[in-house]
Amino acid sequence: MSDNKIYLPESEIPTHWYNVIPDMPTPPAPYLGPDGNPIGAGAMEAIFPPAIIEQETSDQRWIPIPEPVREALALWRPAPLVRARRLEQALDTPARIYFKYEGGSPAGSHKPNSAVAQAYYNAEAGIKRLTTETGAGQWGSSLSLAGQMFGLDVRIYMVCISYQQKPYRRSMMETWGGEVIPSPSPYTQAGREALERDPDSRGSLGMAISEAVEEAASRGDTNYALGSVLNHVLLHQTVIGLEAKKQLAIAGDYPDVVFAPCGGGSNVGGIMFPFLADKAAGKDIRLVAVEPASCPTLTRGHYAYDYGDSVGLTPMMKMYTLGHDFMPPGIHAGGLRYHGDSALVSQLYHDQVLEAQSVQQIATFEAGVLFSRTQGIIPAPESAHAIRAAIDEALAAKEEGREKTILFTLSGHGHFDMSAYDRYFAGELEDMDYPSEALARARQSLPKVEG
Ligand SMILES: *Cc1c(COP(=O)(O)O)cnc(C)c1O
Repeated sequence: MSDNKIYLPESEIPTHWYNVIPDMPTPPAPYLGPDGNPIGAGAMEAIFPPAIIEQETSDQRWIPIPEPVREALALWRPAPLVRARRLEQALDTPARIYFKYEGGSPAGSHKPNSAVAQAYYNAEAGIKRLTTETGAGQWGSSLSLAGQMFGLDVRIYMVCISYQQKPYRRSMMETWGGEVIPSPSPYTQAGREALERDPDSRGSLGMAISEAVEEAASRGDTNYALGSVLNHVLLHQTVIGLEAKKQLAIAGDYPDVVFAPCGGGSNVGGIMFPFLADKAAGKDIRLVAVEPASCPTLTRGHYAYDYGDSVGLTPMMKMYTLGHDFMPPGIHAGGLRYHGDSALVSQLYHDQVLEAQSVQQIATFEAGVLFSRTQGIIPAPESAHAIRAAIDEALAAKEEGREKTILFTLSGHGHFDMSAYDRYFAGELEDMDYPSEALARARQSLPKVEG
């Protein structure tokens, strides 16, 4: 028998999160308010608890993880690191392929890692309710679970098209006590205006964020929680990379290249940031975010200030963006259909510390199916983007006849995505490049600010 999985004991759940900000070559640009000036902490107090606001701009490299959060994480962490030997054999590659499996959490992805931390800090601050948005349902599920664990009510605005296509994600959120509302909804001004413009609107993540933020800002007992993009979310996700580093050390190995699927950037930051300090110290390691060609935020987006939501209720963040009024094409990786990207990931990509690569939908499902048939786990379509890139890298290593160590995040399982696999098997999926005209239009829609 060969060693396929490397487990850590619960005592090895990290005691601190790693904050990348002190190690960035260029500090992140400040968030801007409606007047074009940097926002103060006060502007965020209407929707976030103090501890989260502090984490958003902290210059401390290591931030302690509260014990109740570590205890919550212990329900599914540490997550296993797996050597994908059967995949290696199928590819006949000299490369060693490892994946960090985040699909073993109750919600089936990495998202609960941040959800439990956010629920904890809000409960500590005396908050009773949280609002949020969800696209494919992964984040809504995670926050419902975390709300239940820390005694908070959770209301989730779910992108309408997903609400219709993914009824079991809704059941899951309700099982954990969450209240799910299709977005756009009649409950908020943002939603009412969207429905007036288009009564059959399919919704978008940007719209659902507008609704959730509007409600949280209007109620004292209610805060808002975001599942990706913001600095504190990436911070919470660094448990992924911190564990993976220890596990690779046990295997006596170190990655030449790390891949992760990129939506808002939270699992990219989560697995890659802990390796970034090594890179800054001269270590030769490539860190590559993988995104869909149909939603090419990093590889083709504009690096500019933009809003995080469709209506413009959030502060402006400097990030790679396809424009805040982006209407995503109907691809089957809901978690990757966001118009923007984390400010930290964007800055690091701009400074060429991180790389990015885009892959097409059909090749992505092909990789997902090969992975299922070799390693057994059926990956979420989001995760299959990283698998595609890892396979291509392993095939290149074979071509060059040299060894290589590849690591990727398997960010979630695909058990709620089987209709997308059905469509792939039926030959109904299409490859798609995001149209250049739409990119040019997006430039026009960006808020006019210096920077
Ligand atoms: C949400 C999600 C993603 C993308 O989100 P990031 O914040 O970019 O990590 C990737 N994979 C899965 C399984 C997801 O649920």
